[in-house]
Amino acid sequence: MKRIAVAGFLHESNTFQTRPTDRSAFAAQTLVFGDAWLNEWRQAHHEVAGFFDVLEEHGVHAAPIFLGWATPGGPVADAWFEEVANYLTQRLGSGVYDGCLLALHGAMVTPRWPDADAELLRRIRRAVGRDFPLAVTFDLHGNLPSTLPELCSMVVAYRTNPHVDQRQCGQRAARLLLRQLRGEVHPFAAISKPPVIISLARQDTSEPPLRPFFEDLHRLEQQPTVLAVSFLLGFPYADVPHMGPAFLAVTDGDRALAEKIVADLSARLWEHREALQADLPDASQAVRQALAAQRTPVILVDFGDNVGGGSAADGTVLLAELLRQGASESVVCLYDPQAVQECERAGLGATVHLRVGGKTDQLHGEPVAVTGQVRRLHHGTYEELEARHGGLRVQRMGPTALLELPQRNWLVLTSLRHPPFSLGQLTCLGLEPRRLRIIVVKGAIAWKAAYLPIAGTVIGVDTPGVTPARVTRLHYRHVPPLYPLQSP
Ligand SMILES: [Zn+2]
Repeated sequence: MKRIAVAGFLHESNTFQTRPTDRSAFAAQTLVFGDAWLNEWRQAHHEVAGFFDVLEEHGVHAAPIFLGWATPGGPVADAWFEEVANYLTQRLGSGVYDGCLLALHGAMVTPRWPDADAELLRRIRRAVGRDFPLAVTFDLHGNLPSTLPELCSMVVAYRTNPHVDQRQCGQRAARLLLRQLRGEVHPFAAISKPPVIISLARQDTSEPPLRPFFEDLHRLEQQPTVLAVSFLLGFPYADVPHMGPAFLAVTDGDRALAEKIVADLSARLWEHREALQADLPDASQAVRQALAAQRTPVILVDFGDNVGGGSAADGTVLLAELLRQGASESVVCLYDPQAVQECERAGLGATVHLRVGGKTDQLHGEPVAVTGQVRRLHHGTYEELEARHGGLRVQRMGPTALLELPQRNWLVLTSLRHPPFSLGQLTCLGLEPRRLRIIVVKGAIAWKAAYLPIAGTVIGVDTPGVTPARVTRLHYRHVPPLYPLQSP
């Protein structure tokens, strides 16, 4: 019986975020050597669960060897990257596996390795040899270098943003790996990188201009020699030489076809370069619009503090503006472990005077002075059973406090940075999202899977921070000429 190693080492690294992501940041979320992660992840809407779906269906022995996932944040510490890379190369190079299914993000950066995912694959390739079947899945936000196709035998990326197709992505990769193992196909991969940045505000795959591209990926795969076509949107918050979108086509040995597919798609994307940029109102305009909106809840999208893009999660620009303009029945979530401790010390029902948020850096607003009552203290772990962005079943925000401010405004204070991927972050505290007037989500697109079904009005906000909607707000040093930074 064939033995397939299954592993995942996933991180989206924001190089504008100064706090590094070390071993402890993985340990706070998911970090398991061996197979003890299966209980939590086997039923998750994640690509690793998709791997197991197909391997089990085909009676192939699946050997889980490692899973590491941390909330997007600053670059991954080199020492921790080395530890994982050494472990994976040793295990995979041991000769006991016939192939490997590996889940990567594609936008991992360490101080030493701007292309950490590719560096990991280079090392694995050296350990296992050129012909070892190695199928890799990537997040839609991977920044892939042009050398990527040489490093793995099969590449498949998610196709939706919000990412609700992760499990299917894993299934596709596993099916293709099995075909390669049976000798049915001999994959050839081509890559093309269009010289444009896609603003996060334009990265909804269900809307134009991106939607027709994703519809075409399915159409292209109908050709008999085409195995997989992927469109990675890129992650603009990494100042690395290979930052930007990529098209990848894997064919059954048809080099000319693979190269033509990616070249055509790249040329088409370039035609849309202006429509791929964002123009959003600032915080003061956006809050005014929110207060005047008839259809509630109003979702105010805090682009500059996009936690799922690695930001501080304690940005106060919208909180300060909501309080200044006299909002009521709003909710804002902030990462502030110090404030949580103060609430815990004060106890349930107590009135506290706090300075919240704005503590990580100088880019996301000042701490805001608030007075409120502690309404809930919670351990901060909850479950999400639906397919939601990120594919996590168990969500961890760390010890959490719910504070009620005057005019029924609410503050959710968390001890871990927590992205708005699930309504559970509010409902586990007893808040009813539908009954609120204004909900601030610290994100770009990912929040939509959970919050769009209950939204009355959506207003994207051009807030400052390390994840701005307008990439021209950032100072890049290492990227090549890319529109709109410079015309190539
Ligand atoms: Zn992503």
